[in-house]
Amino acid sequence: MHRFQLYIDGSFEDGAAQFESLDPATGTPWALMPEAREDEVNRAVEAAHRAFRSGPWPRLTATARGKLLMKLADLVLAAAPRLAALETRDTGKIIRETSAQIAYVADYYRYYAGLADKIEGAHLPIDKPDMEVWTRREPVGVVAAIVPWNSQLFLSAVKLGPALAAGCTVVLKASEDGPAPLLEFARLIHEAGFPPGVVNVITGFGPTCGHVLTRHPKVAHIAFTGGPGTARAVVRNSAENLASTSLELGGKSPFIVFADADLDSAANAQVSGIFAATGQSCVAGSRLLIQRSVKEAFLAKLKAKAEAIRIAAPDLMTTEVGPLCTQRQRSHIEATIAASLAAGATLVTGGQALTGPGFYFPPTILDCSDAPNAPALSQEFFGPVLTVLTFDTEDQAIELANDTQYGLASGVFTASLTRAHRMIRAIRAGVVWVNTYRAVSPIAPFGGHGLSGNGREGGLAAALDYTTTKTVWLRTSDDPIPDPFVMR
Ligand code: NDP
Repeated sequence: MHRFQLYIDGSFEDGAAQFESLDPATGTPWALMPEAREDEVNRAVEAAHRAFRSGPWPRLTATARGKLLMKLADLVLAAAPRLAALETRDTGKIIRETSAQIAYVADYYRYYAGLADKIEGAHLPIDKPDMEVWTRREPVGVVAAIVPWNSQLFLSAVKLGPALAAGCTVVLKASEDGPAPLLEFARLIHEAGFPPGVVNVITGFGPTCGHVLTRHPKVAHIAFTGGPGTARAVVRNSAENLASTSLELGGKSPFIVFADADLDSAANAQVSGIFAATGQSCVAGSRLLIQRSVKEAFLAKLKAKAEAIRIAAPDLMTTEVGPLCTQRQRSHIEATIAASLAAGATLVTGGQALTGPGFYFPPTILDCSDAPNAPALSQEFFGPVLTVLTFDTEDQAIELANDTQYGLASGVFTASLTRAHRMIRAIRAGVVWVNTYRAVSPIAPFGGHGLSGNGREGGLAAALDYTTTKTVWLRTSDDPIPDPFVMR
């Protein structure tokens, strides 16, 4: 069996115990993962704190930090096939997707490498004579970065890139589900030459690892991606250390198709919007809102495309949908579909887990037009399940789109430029895609509202989130400061 190690203070170690990681394609153990418990977490945070306060890291110029990040980007690219294969093996994400995504992960590191020496303070035209006043953007301190199982290399890059560019140090917690790619990535951190303690990579279980990490008194900022329930626990913990938090949570994103849209193009975008990553994607366009006059035609296209999708082992380049990451995830999907069918929803296609080994579930379309209370409409599946609702007017589409506690992403398909602008203004979501879906870039901010969280990742703003502002007052007069108690 393959074995992986934690990375703490520049050294690799086995952890307090080992746990088995299952191959989602077969449901059988394939590797032993190291478990970090209280002692490992504490040592990782102490190492990050030491590295932040002393040693080479705080003395490095921003340009030198950028060079290290650039080296890391090159190493990620060179190790792309290995990292992609590990992510596929440990999480079930198909190799086509992991291979393509890893190149983009390198781009994120490259972007933040370039940004490191552009995080500037400001000179203030202060309203007092004989004073020079300016601000410095200083790193906030030790960052606890926590990611879920899907796209761990990507979700950690959007945290590590800006945090390191800003000069912070990091304890990165990989999910207990599929941590292999991040534990392997730690070797690239080591090879790039980051000083010991600057980046520590651990994994372990929520209650014994994540809980200890997020309430540690030396953690200054928590960058969390996961579900809203865990986010609440993390925010409660931040009441102990008063760390700032940025939360990237789930979604129930509307995918709105008007009758005037290019239906073939919209259907292709919808298929990738919901079935890519086997639906385990925070931005999944999981709520199709379709204008009544084209509903039948559009659903016919979707059904044909969904049923033609090749479901197979994730390590084959021809596979289009692979297994879910865990049986727990599959059980949640099955239960939510059953409850929705009981509430009046109807199946257009799919709906039954595949028999045989592995955690496979087919692309599923659930028409909820006559089932307004179906749990499928409000609960995130985090799987390949699309719900369908019908609308007649633009106002109805807006009302349905905003009828959610989430607010992460949205898609609008229309040929009307004026309608597109009205929809952009009306939809409450962190991202609006018009006649496209799922596009991301290191240059563009990304994040949500409500149950989707409050952080923004990507772009300059994300790097500023890892800084604190220091205001400097410098008196330029050589005259002595007068005694304040002498009356004049
Ligand atoms: P969870 O919230 O269950 O887990 C996320 C991370 O938090 C994991 O590393 C988990 O560890 C850890 N964790 C669990 N309990 C605690 C705790 N008490 N304290 C601190 N950390 C803890 O999320 P899921 O794994 O279910 O991931 C899916 C969710 O992530 C979905 O809602 C999805 O939409 C969201 N997501 C959001 C994205 C965004 O950018 N907005 C991107 C990708 C996903 P462990 O796994 O070991 O339990």
